[in-house]
Amino acid sequence: TSPHDFLRAGTSLLRWLTAYREVHCRSYPVISASRPNALRDALPPAAPEAPEPFSAILSDCTRLILPALTHWENSAKFFAYFKPHSSYPAVLAELMAAGLNVMGFDWIASPAATELEVVTLDWLGDILHLPPRFLSRAPGPGGAVIQGSAGEAAIVVLLAATRRAQRRAASLPETAPPLSDVHSDTNRHRCVVYCSDQTHAIVTKACLVLGLSVCSLPTTAADGYTLRGATLSAAIAAHLAEGKLPVAVVATSGTTTSCAFDPLAEIAAAAAPHSLWVHVDAAYGGAYACLDEVLPLFAGLDACDSFCVNAHKKLLCPFDLAALYVADRTPLLAALSLTPEYLRNDASESGAVVDFEHWQLGLGRRFRALKLWFVLRRFGASGIRAHVRRGTSLALTFAQRVEASPFLSLAAPVSLSLVCFRCAPLHPAAAAGDAADDELQTALLEAVKAKGVFIIHSRLGGVKILRLACGGVEQRRREVIAAFEVIEAE
Ligand code: PLP
Repeated sequence: TSPHDFLRAGTSLLRWLTAYREVHCRSYPVISASRPNALRDALPPAAPEAPEPFSAILSDCTRLILPALTHWENSAKFFAYFKPHSSYPAVLAELMAAGLNVMGFDWIASPAATELEVVTLDWLGDILHLPPRFLSRAPGPGGAVIQGSAGEAAIVVLLAATRRAQRRAASLPETAPPLSDVHSDTNRHRCVVYCSDQTHAIVTKACLVLGLSVCSLPTTAADGYTLRGATLSAAIAAHLAEGKLPVAVVATSGTTTSCAFDPLAEIAAAAAPHSLWVHVDAAYGGAYACLDEVLPLFAGLDACDSFCVNAHKKLLCPFDLAALYVADRTPLLAALSLTPEYLRNDASESGAVVDFEHWQLGLGRRFRALKLWFVLRRFGASGIRAHVRRGTSLALTFAQRVEASPFLSLAAPVSLSLVCFRCAPLHPAAAAGDAADDELQTALLEAVKAKGVFIIHSRLGGVKILRLACGGVEQRRREVIAAFEVIEAE
């Protein structure tokens, strides 16, 4: 616990981590073979009474923790979810953030934490070609904030949208409520949030937390599993006729199952006559807006109210960094600003600074901008683009092999770094989605996982499909080809 110990232990920890990431993570089964409660049973029932040396802790990390991990950094075998990558510069920034231990909830709590966040989010916004109205440096009321996850961002945004809609319905001004007004917000269940059957469950959860009604609209294979403006318009009209208050729609840029892109312009046009807040959940797909060739998929973003992209998915940062951009910060501040006496200060009252506590749920906040800053500087915009683009070319490598295979078929068009595929039906006439077909896909999935390649399944239009998500800078083409060979051999 002395500075000397810190230096020695820190050096051995960095060595240990590097060895894990470069070598050892590949030698463990990618999905932990640990049985339930194995780690719990291996640990002593109480904390030690006497201090222990750091070396003992680190060796238990090797002995007990590593075997009970699922190895997300194993780029040779991990193709599940949306494979993230936590780059070394970002890992170092996390260490620095913990070492500096600032708690930047308002500007005066640590000016650098706030200002670095404002600047790096603008830098990222430029790299992603975001409309200028989302940037803090633009003259308007837009701006950005780091949230812990896309789920937190959805709660914050849907609360702001609801309060805005309620105020407008009651012809009240869009200013922050006084403390005494906080409990006067009733009738939330009348408020409706629209999304599609492909929207991530974070939106339903946000509605649960906020007491809002969620309306999940159907998508079809013919529309590429996207939410159409006409579907949204019809649902809004029906709810208005029932006396409900439509407050927001969540569009997705890169859906979780098949990485489909909702048509933002169409959705924004359907939302506009009713002043719905349009939130874009681009948790995964948003990173790809840095690529000119993908940019058309984001057409219409300039007519949307907010946009959230997870830097902890495709932008080389470890969890947690969800960048939330809003075209107008006023409704957010109106919904979330509370300034008790003990947090009053001259800087905040001058109006010249940003206090991010009013843009989020909790009070305390980590110095997360550091990891984004380190990544943007160490990779540069060109490095980020190369990383993101590489994932798409690896996905094509896999998809071409699926298309040429007599045993496999694509289940959806390849999108970004994701390939949805399935075991080709033995009898083409057999209806997809029936129990036998389900069993066929499940058998393939389990066999592939048993051979040490981690992919997951989902459903599209009720049909069971398998998903393979490629990585980035650290993933090699031969690893993707090896994964294909394992899958095809099954
Ligand atoms: N939105 C989409 C489209 C996702 O794919 C995911 C996770 O994969 C999430 C949201 C959840 O993100 P978070 O864990 O940051 O809440």
